[in-house]
Amino acid sequence: MIQFISISSGSSGNCYYLLADGFGLLIDLGIGIRIFKRHFSNYGLPLAQIKAILVTHDHTDHVKAVGSLSRDFNLPVYTSARVHDSITRNHYVSKKVPLAQQHTIERGDAPLQLGPFEITSFAVPHDSADNNGYIIKAENVCLVVMTDVGHFTDEMQRIVAQATHLIIESNYDAQMLSNGPYPMRLQKRISSPNGHISNAETGAFLAEHLNPERIKRVWLCHLSAENNRPQLALDTVCQALRNKGYTLEGDNALRVETLPRHTPTLPVELE
Ligand SMILES: [Zn+2]
Ligand SMILES: [Zn+2]
Repeated sequence: MIQFISISSGSSGNCYYLLADGFGLLIDLGIGIRIFKRHFSNYGLPLAQIKAILVTHDHTDHVKAVGSLSRDFNLPVYTSARVHDSITRNHYVSKKVPLAQQHTIERGDAPLQLGPFEITSFAVPHDSADNNGYIIKAENVCLVVMTDVGHFTDEMQRIVAQATHLIIESNYDAQMLSNGPYPMRLQKRISSPNGHISNAETGAFLAEHLNPERIKRVWLCHLSAENNRPQLALDTVCQALRNKGYTLEGDNALRVETLPRHTPTLPVELE
């Protein structure tokens, strides 16, 4: 049995947790360490269950407390060498990942086995030093994680088609962004091919490239607080899927949900 909890999702901090066979795998840790520990104990989850941390990229909202937790619990941290280098140089990360805990996973490497999880990385375009998407396989589950997506690549089309479960960014609504409070320079950064992805782009990508025979659940992540609303993201993506012939109601139907920015979700069993 694989359990998934989204602990936090969005520009104020990202953190996801997977647990299988007593092996806890964190994906990113971009919230404060005290808040993180409080969430964990509220769920009755022992911190000692965490065995490794996997990091997508070096932006602070993904790595803020990675070094801190790694030091406290002697946890190995896995990401690309470029992301490790950039975390080390990130002034907003006060506690660095100890050198001995810096392990690399690079594109093209043989799959990395961490406990029950078999992990492969792929490139996701973004304005960080580097950004990794992950394919995480365990039991019959193939969970794909793609966050902070500047644009979708051909490789990402092939990868998303393998997913049984998917965490994918749906950052902003294009109209809310252009009518919103952000200065033009920031609007351009967000909508650029190395920034973030809009609801409509994610909807079109999923409608075209998901495999309806495989996909069971989709979680829309990293929603903007200023330039998006959960219901709008959900409606936009679901409409694109319905237009493609997906049924989204019923027991065996594909389930699409948004991940909350600050509140942890209940544990979800992946099957
Ligand atoms: Zn981010
Ligand atoms: Zn980022």
